[in-house]
Amino acid sequence: MNDRFLEGRTALVTGSTSGIGLAIACRLAAHGARVALNGLGTHEQIDAASTAVRVAGAPDARHFAADLRDPAQIEAMMAEVASWSAIDVLVNNAGIQHAVPIADMPVTKWNDILAINLSAAFHTMRLALPGMAGRGYGRVVNIASVHGLVASKDKAPYVASKFGVIGLGKVAALEYAAAGSRDSGGVTVNCICPGWVETPLIEPQVEARRNGGSREDGVRALLAEKQPSLRMSLPEDIGAMAAWLCRREAHNVTGTAMPIDGGWTAQ
Ligand code: NAD
Repeated sequence: MNDRFLEGRTALVTGSTSGIGLAIACRLAAHGARVALNGLGTHEQIDAASTAVRVAGAPDARHFAADLRDPAQIEAMMAEVASWSAIDVLVNNAGIQHAVPIADMPVTKWNDILAINLSAAFHTMRLALPGMAGRGYGRVVNIASVHGLVASKDKAPYVASKFGVIGLGKVAALEYAAAGSRDSGGVTVNCICPGWVETPLIEPQVEARRNGGSREDGVRALLAEKQPSLRMSLPEDIGAMAAWLCRREAHNVTGTAMPIDGGWTAQ
């Protein structure tokens, strides 16, 4: 890609060993960013993700391990990344899901989902935003969900965490709205709210709707419930939206929650 507007910038993308996070990391890399990867996985998966990001165009890429359920590990990761390179772009993408009714929801799942999908974003933001303000440019992109805007049954902790991250993002957007300038790009905080995206996260929900049919039958049933376009997004589509938010000319786009959901939340 010729448009290397992120040359000289560094991006940390949480949960970038898979799915949407990896696609965002590759897209930011293609625009010239150095990329700090984070996420769980085998050595092979982590190596493959780092290689993909370098091949996409990152001048440098490194994986920083941290289980985002643990604030102490998040603090250690943020310090390690900062000593590698100041963070200009923070993408809070890591997330997990568990779909059962409230009465059957294991308490450990509630705690883990809130910790990864919401509290981790608070910790990374509180540690990264002051440096961004000092340099006059910074971008926080939180990968929320349509489930931060509307609810579905059986997803209590997921929906609570995604509504929460949108609220958190709005507060941070206000606190940092006046940082930097139009020329430097300012500091913005936004949420992207995808509907269904083709990643491993949704496979259990596809499986639950197969009714003995093919995977495509399961996908069709899932889309028919909520997503009027009847098309899934690709992880790369989310990557393109995240990259646009990092542009200088997006300096006044802050505090938003942008759906990319085939009309789901228009209903
Ligand atoms: P995925 O399962 O492919 O990737 C999740 C990533 O989070 C992986 O890299 C995983 O290692 C990481 N992760 C999980 N637990 C972690 C932990 N304890 N510590 C550190 N990293 C951890 O899922 P995805 O679909 O790419 O989801 C990415 C984000 O997009 C999530 O926040 C999800 O809620 C959101 N989202 C996904 C969809 C969809 O349809 N796939 C729709 C809306 C929103």
